[in-house]
Amino acid sequence: MDHFTIKNGVMHAEDVSLETLANEVGTPLYVYSSATIERHYNVFAAAVAGLTDGNPLVAFAVKSNPNLSVLATLARLGAGADVVSGGELARALAAGVPADRIVFSGVGKQLPELRAGVEAGILQFNIESEAEILMLGAVAASLDKTVEVAIRINPAVDPKTHGKISTGGADAKFGIPWDRVADAFALAAAQSHLRPVGLAAHIGSQLTDLGPVEDTIRKLGTLAKALEAQGHTIKRIDCGGGLGVPYRSDQPAPPSPAHYAAMVARATQGWPWRLMFEPGRMIVGNAGVLVSSVILTKEGASKKFVVVDAAMNDLLRPSLYGAWHDIKALRPKSRTEIATVVGPICETGDTFAEDREVEALEAGERIAFMTAGAYGATMASTYNSRPLVPEIMVSGAKWAIVSQRNQPEAMLALDARAPWL
Ligand code: PLP
Repeated sequence: MDHFTIKNGVMHAEDVSLETLANEVGTPLYVYSSATIERHYNVFAAAVAGLTDGNPLVAFAVKSNPNLSVLATLARLGAGADVVSGGELARALAAGVPADRIVFSGVGKQLPELRAGVEAGILQFNIESEAEILMLGAVAASLDKTVEVAIRINPAVDPKTHGKISTGGADAKFGIPWDRVADAFALAAAQSHLRPVGLAAHIGSQLTDLGPVEDTIRKLGTLAKALEAQGHTIKRIDCGGGLGVPYRSDQPAPPSPAHYAAMVARATQGWPWRLMFEPGRMIVGNAGVLVSSVILTKEGASKKFVVVDAAMNDLLRPSLYGAWHDIKALRPKSRTEIATVVGPICETGDTFAEDREVEALEAGERIAFMTAGAYGATMASTYNSRPLVPEIMVSGAKWAIVSQRNQPEAMLALDARAPWL
């Protein structure tokens, strides 16, 4: 459920007209609904609240939307943060997420990033390789701080999602193969300043089949019990994120948080350990739209093109993954037609929808790409020297620009002419 609805003939985010925002800020622009973010977080947190020890940590996957106001909205609700870089760590802390609710994931954390996490006193590092155990062990020892870590396992399961967002397969770069986890745990335990206290897994994103997730969680439980039998102490199990969101209104919705929680309850029955979750897309996906204006329409040899002012640099998912975003006119129209919706960038991949039935659009009209709150603005670039797309947050009738559009002069100022030119 989201808070983008038609009121007085025009799409609103909560009580704010998207047409008004488009006029005031210009297009393209991202618009987030705080009520939707809050609702999704609360629904997820409530669904998992009673599992195992009754004190789960819901650590929002910052990579899905690192905007400071998005993070601050979630921090106020008590969310933790799952970060994968020094930059994300800094954002989470700046947004008010307490360090003891932050988990640091990622397959290639670098020394300054490890150091920043140790100095901040975060809850846990999810370690993805034997080499990282040694790196973090050395960093923690040099700072004389004891650090709690979990081993991220590679469970060798097929998450049944798009290949580019699958992370749980045996050949994926993520995690330590599950049959080497006991050795990795022992290696971590042998480091003077590391305390291995848990296991973690994240098998992929936009998951619509809970079967592979359940298999993975059961695998985590089996491993945790074996580790305890070897004398290790287990405190936490991190089940990762990945729950899918409905991108297409004409297709069945993915499992709900309640279904997901029921599956986790089944798989974790009798566990004494604290659970952790790292949802991203599920919290913010439907809480954001990308608003764009139609520049012009044109007839090709065999297609009608609608050329809009948003492009692949603003919303990469369609060109990167062939992902679908529903496209809606801000002022709904009754007539539809088959059209190909494209951006102005000089690549054929700059296509949002191919031969799709859309409302019949004309130059100057505004549209929204729905479900653009996750992996949207954060993947934006300045390709074709286009300014970064701005972000707006709405709360009821209030709105604020929460990320500025950078200007061409500012972008140019980052470059320098080489001294010999
Ligand atoms: N945790 C980790 C380690 C991830 O890599 C990701 C995203 O790929 C997530 C959590 C969040 O996934 P999602 O946004 O699908 O919930």
